[in-house]
Amino acid sequence: MRIFSGIQPTGRKHLGNYIGALVQWVAGQDRGDALYCLVDLHALTVPYEPEALRDAVYDTAATLLAAGLDPNRCILFRQSDVQEHSELTWLLSSVTSYGELTRMTQFKDKAGSARELVTSGLFFYPVLMAADVLVYRAEEVPVGEDQRQHVELMRDAAERFNGRFGETLVVPEARIPGVGARIMDLQFPERKMSTTGGSPQGTVYVTDEPAAILKKFRSAVTDSGTDVVRAPDKPGISNLIDILAAVRGSSPEEVEASFNGAGYGAFKQAVADAVVEYLAPVRARYEELRADESAIERILEQGAEKARAIAADTMLDVREAMGVGPVRARR
Ligand code: ATP
Ligand code: MG
Repeated sequence: MRIFSGIQPTGRKHLGNYIGALVQWVAGQDRGDALYCLVDLHALTVPYEPEALRDAVYDTAATLLAAGLDPNRCILFRQSDVQEHSELTWLLSSVTSYGELTRMTQFKDKAGSARELVTSGLFFYPVLMAADVLVYRAEEVPVGEDQRQHVELMRDAAERFNGRFGETLVVPEARIPGVGARIMDLQFPERKMSTTGGSPQGTVYVTDEPAAILKKFRSAVTDSGTDVVRAPDKPGISNLIDILAAVRGSSPEEVEASFNGAGYGAFKQAVADAVVEYLAPVRARYEELRADESAIERILEQGAEKARAIAADTMLDVREAMGVGPVRARR
């Protein structure tokens, strides 16, 4: 079983990334051959500073290692180090539909709220993401709920490719967690917690100090009621229930039962305390790992070497099937 997933090195990663994606990434190491990628090319689709991007790759790599990724049990690498991702993106442009890309909600959201240039890269983002996964012929893609539509698009691309050029690519499946697949912003609970589009007070970062975490949860937006139960008109409380369930490894129903009659104040405090305790060891490991950039760089280089070998093999088949380049005698 081959597993692939990516994360953007855009700024500090948050509790949504941690619960929605990273927890599954860590578990994936025991379930199959896992490849995890710092998708710096995806990060170019929004405004950025070159120097900051380079540093953010190290920040994010240290976060992933602190969360429990083990370079001996997974392949951790930087997307731009494996050029096959870029080549396959272009080749897949012939089997991805313009109409489908215009329907992607991530594009519509990000283009709609962009203050600067809306790049064509933002529009083409899902094709690059399809290439990321398909170039490894991965079977499973652990992601948060917001990426379901992009995984659907890459499945369509792989099926269309195989139908048009012959069985070459693997059609992957999304793996989305049952609880915590969509953690919401604490200040705007109708919007997902986001690295680039969230509110500062509503986003809990993995590396936040305990005092900052406590403050953010205490000031989380709720509603005028008092019952700790999930409901469509209680997005704030519903989100906090999901967060506590994910952090405790229990269910939202159990959380509701254990805070029956407790009131919002006590409940928010309990969520804050649980998250502080959950993230404290990760933050400590992060500080240690982030201090040694050359060690991180070595891990990424070794990862890229392993990733390249798999990707290059797929590209031989893809090019041959598409009639691109000369016919090659394989092995
Ligand atoms: P941006 O909002 O700028 O796209 P991001 O916070 O979504 O950034 P990514 O690096 O794009 O961060 O996503 C990494 C992983 O985290 C993906 O699998 C994504 O589905 C997951 N994820 C992102 N936000 C959330 C969230 N609020 N809840 C659960 N999972 C999330
Ligand atoms: Mg995202």
